[in-house]
Formats: sequence, C-alpha cells, structure tokens
Amino acid sequence: MIDAANIKQLIACQQCDVLYERPQLKQGQNAKCTCCGSTLIERKVDWINHSFYWSIAGLLMLLPAILLPIMGVTLGGQYDDASLFECVLALIDRGFYMIAVLLFLFALAVPTVRLVGVFYLTYSFKYQYLRPCQLSFFRAFHHLDNWTMLNVFMLGIVVAMYKLVDDTELSINLGLVTYTCWMICSTLAVQYLDQDEIWQTLEQRFGDQ
Ligand SMILES: [Zn+2]
Repeated sequence: MIDAANIKQLIACQQCDVLYERPQLKQGQNAKCTCCGSTLIERKVDWINHSFYWSIAGLLMLLPAILLPIMGVTLGGQYDDASLFECVLALIDRGFYMIAVLLFLFALAVPTVRLVGVFYLTYSFKYQYLRPCQLSFFRAFHHLDNWTMLNVFMLGIVVAMYKLVDDTELSINLGLVTYTCWMICSTLAVQYLDQDEIWQTLEQRFGDQ
C-alpha cells in the first residue's frame, strides 16, 4: 500500500505519466523515462550561481530596456522615437486602453516580477535564507511561467500598430537591443533554475506546515 510519505518519493513522467521511484542524482546527472525517453529530472550543475548572476544581469538591464527608445518612427520627414514605457502611454493617449494594459502586463510587469522572483529564490538558496512562505511563492512563480512568452507577441503588436496607424518607416533603436538582452538574461536565469531541487528542498523543510 502507498502512503503519503511514499507518494512524495514517486515521480511521474510528464509525457506519458508512468510513475517511478525518485532516483538520487548527483549534479550533472539526469534520469530519463524508460518508456518514452523524455527527461524526468535533471540535476543542474551550479544552478544557484548561474541563475543568481543571470538574474542580476537581467535586473541591471531592466531600466535601460524600459526607458531607452525601442524604435524610431519617420513620418513625413520627421523623426520621433519612443521607449517601451512611452509606447504604453502613447497607446493610452490614443484610446487603445486594452492593448496598453496587455502591453504593460505582458511586456513589462510579468517579466519584471518573474526576474525579481528568480533573484529572490536564488538569493534565498545561495545565502540559506529559506522561509515557509517560499513554498507558496514558488507555486505562484510556477504559474507565472505560463505567461512569459507573450511579451514577444505584445512587442509584435506594438510594431504592427505603428505600421497600421501611421504610414511610417520604422528603425530599431538601442532600447530594443537592451530589451532583447534583458529577455535573454531573464530566460537564462529561469532556464538554469533547478525547479525540481527547489521543490524538493522546500517540500522537505516546510511541506508539513
Ligand atoms: Zn515517459
């Protein structure tokens, strides 16, 4: 019979749902499903430091990415440029409230919260500052992950709107370069997170509270 303690030692393949006993892995090792070959768990090497420093790099890029002009617009011989933040304000100004809210949420707020989340988690693991509330924090963080790729989609909409609203010529500016770097740092910071180890550690310490 399987009791609650044993259930925690089981792991399911995310592709085909086969259950396995959780293997004990060392850093750099991974376990694969014998049925479909997909990776069950991967112990990432030095993930805390990798994620921590990528998240710091991302946080440093944050302000330039939001405040530097992302694109320049030439209309009737006149050149104008706008940062991402100014794009949100311009959309509100023109009455595109829904798109302004979506752009703010998915291109600015969600990626920022996510990056701060990675920084907070890795900081806590690096300096052993683990607290029971981090279990629910990590659950919320996990849900947020589903909404991250929308920022690329939102940027596409902004560019398309500029092209639709005015007969303009667009040029790429430094803001878009820093925004892309910000996204790369942010993606790498999340990519390096060993989510399974975070679950395991937090569950073992605070799972019963
Ligand atoms: Zn499988």
